Amino acid sequence: MLVVKKFGGTSVANKERIFNVAKRCIEEYKKGNQVVVVLSAMGKQTDVLLDMAKDINPKPSRREMDMLLTTGEQTSVALMAMAMDSLGVPAVSLNAFQVAMHTTADYSNARLKKIDTERIQYELDNRRIVIITGFQGINKFDDYTTLGRGGSDTTAVALAAALHADACEIYTDVDGVFTADPRVVPNARKLEEITYDEMLEMASLGAGVLHNRSVEMAKKYGVQLVVRSSLNTSEGTVVKEESKMEKMLVSGVATDKNVVQFAVKGLENKPGVAFKLFQHLANHNVNVDMILQSVEHGGTQDIVFTVTQDSADEALNILERHGNSSLKCDEITVTKEVSKVSIVGAGMMSNAGVAAKMFEALYDAGVNIRQISTSEIRVTVLIDEKYTNQAAQAVHDAFAL
Ligand code: ADP
Ligand code: ASP
Ligand code: MG
Repeated sequence: MLVVKKFGGTSVANKERIFNVAKRCIEEYKKGNQVVVVLSAMGKQTDVLLDMAKDINPKPSRREMDMLLTTGEQTSVALMAMAMDSLGVPAVSLNAFQVAMHTTADYSNARLKKIDTERIQYELDNRRIVIITGFQGINKFDDYTTLGRGGSDTTAVALAAALHADACEIYTDVDGVFTADPRVVPNARKLEEITYDEMLEMASLGAGVLHNRSVEMAKKYGVQLVVRSSLNTSEGTVVKEESKMEKMLVSGVATDKNVVQFAVKGLENKPGVAFKLFQHLANHNVNVDMILQSVEHGGTQDIVFTVTQDSADEALNILERHGNSSLKCDEITVTKEVSKVSIVGAGMMSNAGVAAKMFEALYDAGVNIRQISTSEIRVTVLIDEKYTNQAAQAVHDAFAL
């Protein structure tokens, strides 16, 4: 059996934790299994590196940023191999170059394209535990790239798919996927299982327990995931195609504070206005979410949308550049203190009244809704950031999760 095990930053934060992980992997190895381990940088090392860079240069190039960030994962894999060696088990660490994990060219947000498996297979055939850097790849210029924050999960799933692994286990600092972030909603409950589609929505809407692209990839290649704690042996949550349970009306609540709301006011009400607005943003790779267009008032209309915090400055620059000329708008407003609260559940597809129940819970909690968006299996509201936790708790209680 071939098992891929991924451990996040807190799970390898210090010497004691590194040995804890080493021992868990060795236990698997001693069952006669082949073990591939994917690691994140130790503790908050990625944040530390980001701060170091910003201290030197407030606008570092993305190439050099990736060159720097990849050192975090390289440190943890080397130390892990040393730990296993000291416990008498043969292990080898490999970075993205040594494996050859090919990605697209975009620094800081690259996508994995192809993973060479020869070197890994060779090491496994020689009965070594293979420890691989998460989060990183190489592009066509032979430069390091990174996969976006939280990207080690995606490395693990991609390796599991490429190696046709029998199991892919994501070890983290909570016992599995919960009905809400347990740090936000203390009485959140661990789910036994969740479907890819629900998990993908949860992850995309702010449930940082899994990188959303890892779930996308798991679904595409049919890799069943188990999310569980590295600090205890409880069962964890299975992420898979179909849940054996009756479809839950609502499986979980997700929150996301990484949002900025833009309102472009007084736009002409004629064909092509929305096209121009969003094309300017798309040309600069600004991703837009939660779009709302008002009805006409006084001959003009407004368009409201959200972007992530790190693209807000860029979005404002673009809008200011085109505001008077091609867009001819009256006013652009930017609201930073907003957040998204979402409910996700495959069962809401065939159930009327789910959105109303969520809005009632928010009303009872005195939370005003600024914007709403829905899909078949989710409802998202944009609210004032200061009410995030209160709103999540109220909605969680309303659905008795
Ligand atoms: P790792 O370093 O192991 O990748 P992360 O910090 O990326 O860990 O993800 C684990 C964290 O995700 C938890 O500590 C928890 O606060 C957060 N989280 C957010 N939403 C959820 C959820 N629905 N279920 C479990 N954890 C969640
Ligand atoms: N170390 C990276 C980060 O902090 C990748 C990861 O942990 O998954 O985002
Ligand atoms: Mg993570």
